[in-house]
Amino acid sequence: MTRPILLVAGVLAFAAQSALADLRVFACEPEWGALAQELGGDHIEVYSATTAFQDPHHIEARPSLIAQARLANLLVCSGAQLEIGWLPLLLRQSGNSDIQPGGPGYVETSSLVPRLDIPSRVDRSMGDVHPSGNPHVHLDPRRVLKIAAVLSGRMQQLDPELAGQYRAHFKNFKARWTTAIARWKAKAQPLQGAPVVVHHRNFTYLLDWISINEVGVLEPKPGLPPTATHLAELVSQLQNQPAKMVIRAAYESDQASQFLSERTDIPEVMLPYTIGGTPAANDLFGLFGDTINRLLGGFKAGPR
Ligand SMILES: [Zn+2]
Repeated sequence: MTRPILLVAGVLAFAAQSALADLRVFACEPEWGALAQELGGDHIEVYSATTAFQDPHHIEARPSLIAQARLANLLVCSGAQLEIGWLPLLLRQSGNSDIQPGGPGYVETSSLVPRLDIPSRVDRSMGDVHPSGNPHVHLDPRRVLKIAAVLSGRMQQLDPELAGQYRAHFKNFKARWTTAIARWKAKAQPLQGAPVVVHHRNFTYLLDWISINEVGVLEPKPGLPPTATHLAELVSQLQNQPAKMVIRAAYESDQASQFLSERTDIPEVMLPYTIGGTPAANDLFGLFGDTINRLLGGFKAGPR
């Protein structure tokens, strides 16, 4: 995305442009870009560093990302070490003092809400990529609302001229979101208590919100690829205590989940995980709506 600079249109166009006083938002993940867009409307320009088909734990701090970080006024990332492999380097290389940790232009969403899976003991040699607790907080809509309140506050602080408009956007979002949460929760009712297997623990907050039971993980440790031994253990576990489905994110390989699905007759369900992971997940509302539809579809197809 490039900022429209209307050189030929002259003073009038420039005045109109600056009156918008737009904020430039750099989002590490598409979900935060979408939330910023909900809260900023036309007044902001959003750049997302990753897509739904990229693993957010493993991104390269490419020159194009550094260039975008250099231009940003506000950075929104998950934190809790999700981006530890690439964000610190990106921030250093950007040379942009506005978006450094601790400043008003830096928002780490996972630090704004209670985190799950905080380990009692961290052993990096065991491959744990979640040593600060689970960073994948965006799939609990209640947490998203808390994060939205803080993010809107930062927009008001960084762009005080338009504070009233950011407040209005937040109020509007909060009303629509609250209604949607009740609708999704009611629709997801049949899924309560259902046992599921996940590829990586990136749906933990979603499962916690809907009260779905995570009974297995394809990765032997968070961040470690599935192994033949571990999958064989899961197969025998599921033969004794079947799960309803095996779920994975759009960005994750289907190899291990299909292997398990074929051997246990448990349906494999791909979820968008974030904006753009499926065509229907085209904004935050579509993300949750499509996720619940897909879970219900897998649930109906699964073992009784
Ligand atoms: Zn993770």
